[in-house]
Amino acid sequence: MTRESSALQQQDHVVVIPYPGQGHINPLLQFAKRLASKGLKATMAATPYAIKSITAHNVAVELISDGFDQGGFAEASSVQAYLESFETAGSRTLTELIKKYEDTECPITCVVCLQTERPVCSAAFFTNSAAICSIFCYIHHGMLKVPIETEDLPVKIGSVAELCRDDLPTFLRTPGAYPAYLTMKVNQYNNLSKTDWILCNSFQALEDKEVKAIAELWPAKLIGPMIPSSYLDGRIKGDKGYGASLWKPLSEQCLNWLEGKVSKSVIYVSFGSMVSLSIKQMEEVAWGLKNCGWSFMWVVRESEQSKLPNDFLDSIQEDKGLVVSWCNQLEVLAHESIGCFVTHCGWNSTTEGLGLGVPMVGMPVWADQSTNAKYIEDVWRVGVRAKEDESGVVGREEVERCVGEVMEDERSEEIRRNARKVSELSREAMSEGGSSDKNIDEFVEQLKLMQH
Ligand code: UDP
Repeated sequence: MTRESSALQQQDHVVVIPYPGQGHINPLLQFAKRLASKGLKATMAATPYAIKSITAHNVAVELISDGFDQGGFAEASSVQAYLESFETAGSRTLTELIKKYEDTECPITCVVCLQTERPVCSAAFFTNSAAICSIFCYIHHGMLKVPIETEDLPVKIGSVAELCRDDLPTFLRTPGAYPAYLTMKVNQYNNLSKTDWILCNSFQALEDKEVKAIAELWPAKLIGPMIPSSYLDGRIKGDKGYGASLWKPLSEQCLNWLEGKVSKSVIYVSFGSMVSLSIKQMEEVAWGLKNCGWSFMWVVRESEQSKLPNDFLDSIQEDKGLVVSWCNQLEVLAHESIGCFVTHCGWNSTTEGLGLGVPMVGMPVWADQSTNAKYIEDVWRVGVRAKEDESGVVGREEVERCVGEVMEDERSEEIRRNARKVSELSREAMSEGGSSDKNIDEFVEQLKLMQH
């Protein structure tokens, strides 16, 4: 067979590699599904800890190592030790994976991961908002110094938001507390000139100005929101969930409980997969939810449940409140009965709330969450942000006030209207000819041209 004819039979093969956390696996797996729906072969390479949770149609799964093949992150002595090992063992096993496919009909032609300098084409995939990416990009280029000096405040992103200290990522507010994560975030901008594409899980109508403001330093294509297709454009058949869940979702129990509840009358509460609240903060959220009078469904991961106040569960009428260890968040958010999402403002949860048009109460805890909360309240105006007291706790009255504001107070109508609008824009971005859809098509076309 000539080289040309063998090339014709080859299918472009993209491998996506997430950091093994729920908030990274979800958008990258979704991206892999999109690529598969556009005719590419897509594979997710995941660590032994993450791989068990992945069951997506049309996306193959391959193993790579993070150097901790028994327990993953939990086995590492520190965040830094884990990240270093993930980079070294990950690169080595990725090279082996590329070799494995070398003489097949689908050699790996592109690798998509967080930060990348790879032996084949590559795309750096940013799982944060473009606003957050701008901030770390400024830092990488020395245009913003850490720790942030008072004279550098507010930090301006494009011509949209003015971020004061409390709106900045915690990695910058208290840089000493998270040195490894801060380094990882800033290092994502190393070697970007050697990568073929920069992709970001956001979309033009949401963050046009942010992305334009730093386009020369960070020429990213916005390809989001990376939410299963059924909730947006519906073009990928049967794509109702991410296809990855590190914990077992109590799907049936949740849907049964929501069944029959009045439209837009339930508060859904979740702090994502990583946040761990203090006992005091758990207590305030618990009584705030009970006192607000609305029905609520609260995800409290098993490892957090011992922090619930002793008499809390017994004091809640079965019909009024449900605490679950994990759920299918999209399924819940899409349910007619949900009227408000109390969220830690992780970027995936934020895009899900925006995509499904659910008004939000932001209760950010760490990482990029404060910046996302600022945007929810002041830029997109689809919710409110709960304020902490002097001791850094959001009190029960504040929880009640925020839920009230979103559910029934004066601003509620405007917030709902804005939420509906952003939901439409999210759908448009992913629909045929939408801004993100075009960017994904362009990626696929360029990849094909580069190979053949
Ligand atoms: N999630 C879920 N079930 C839950 C809680 C969260 O499926 O009970 C999903 C949620 O839909 C989102 C992800 O977990 O896609 C959390 O990612 P995010 O970026 O919001 O937060 P992180 O967990 O990274 O802090």
